[in-house]
Amino acid sequence: MILILSIMAHVLQRLSPLTLTMTLGVSSAGVLTHVLPSRLPSPRPTVTDSQVPKLFREPYIHSGYRPVHQDWRCYFLSLFQRHNESLNVWTHLLAAPVLLVRCWALVGATGYTLEAASLPLSLFLISSFTYLCLSVLAHLLQSHSEHAHYFFFFMDYVGVAVYQYGCSIAHYFYTSEQTWRERVGLMFLPAAAFLGWLSCAGCCFAKYRYKRPYPMRRKICQLIPTSMAYLVDISPVAHRLLTSPWTGWAGGDSLPYHALQMASFLLCALFFSCPIPERYFPGCCDFVGHGHQIFHVFLSLCTLFQLEALSRDFVRRRDTLVERFGKRQLWWACVSFPLLCVCCVVTALVTMKYMNEKLKTKKQRDK
Ligand SMILES: [Zn+2]
Repeated sequence: MILILSIMAHVLQRLSPLTLTMTLGVSSAGVLTHVLPSRLPSPRPTVTDSQVPKLFREPYIHSGYRPVHQDWRCYFLSLFQRHNESLNVWTHLLAAPVLLVRCWALVGATGYTLEAASLPLSLFLISSFTYLCLSVLAHLLQSHSEHAHYFFFFMDYVGVAVYQYGCSIAHYFYTSEQTWRERVGLMFLPAAAFLGWLSCAGCCFAKYRYKRPYPMRRKICQLIPTSMAYLVDISPVAHRLLTSPWTGWAGGDSLPYHALQMASFLLCALFFSCPIPERYFPGCCDFVGHGHQIFHVFLSLCTLFQLEALSRDFVRRRDTLVERFGKRQLWWACVSFPLLCVCCVVTALVTMKYMNEKLKTKKQRDK
């Protein structure tokens, strides 16, 4: 894991001066200076934690911070700069095309077409790309200002909630067993939607309420609703893993991939909730190897394993799906998914409105 992150960091280090030279328009490769706009701003060099406002400081990360209040374009161009968010951006930015390529291959292999039976798989894919895009934007642009930091991370929480619900829909329709459905019944999707929204609201509230250095209560506010949502979302998968005979693990079945997606998610939870390894090596993991980067890698792997597992389950169920669940349940999924997206976006925007007032009051007090 650290090796992969190191290679990515090395590539970025090589790219950084090249990009800066190109953006300044003083490249010796004259052709490039004609092609690229010569007035693109150049991102300022990174600074230490004491040179950025408290809000942007990460525990045990001492350097590699981008200065605040630069031109917006500098933050977009910082994609090719070496800073302490670089690998947070690239881990999810590269996961998106990998997911796309894998989707493309599966479309060919499974004969996927847009129909009622493939709707849950489509919602899962939309939710995956949504969380990857919002995460990339959050880590790339949050350093612009306090407003930007809050806004983009609220949107990042929207992405996580949408992804959770996308997974729940796919697990319910493709992976759940009859015996599990008899117990949980029709309550599963409404409960998953509510907990998805609650995890978004809990994360937004915790970010609004607590200031850095963040107390433990903030993590609790984030982790309790998110963990509850995950436990509900994964319950059809866990049930199938626990009740399937060992013979079901062979012959191209989805079970090994479901086991891998659960193992990846447990590692995600570990690296998200604990600042390791940087806690034990303060200042040494500023660019490569801090816990959030490892969390991103495992989350991307979790999504890829889910896609592998769900595409196999989709092939197994596609012919009987409508008959088994009925069109009404598929319609519910189709309607509830955008509804949840809207509820989460509204929650994030309302929290942002209160945050703006809080920031305005703070600014007036500081004058
Ligand atoms: Zn992140």
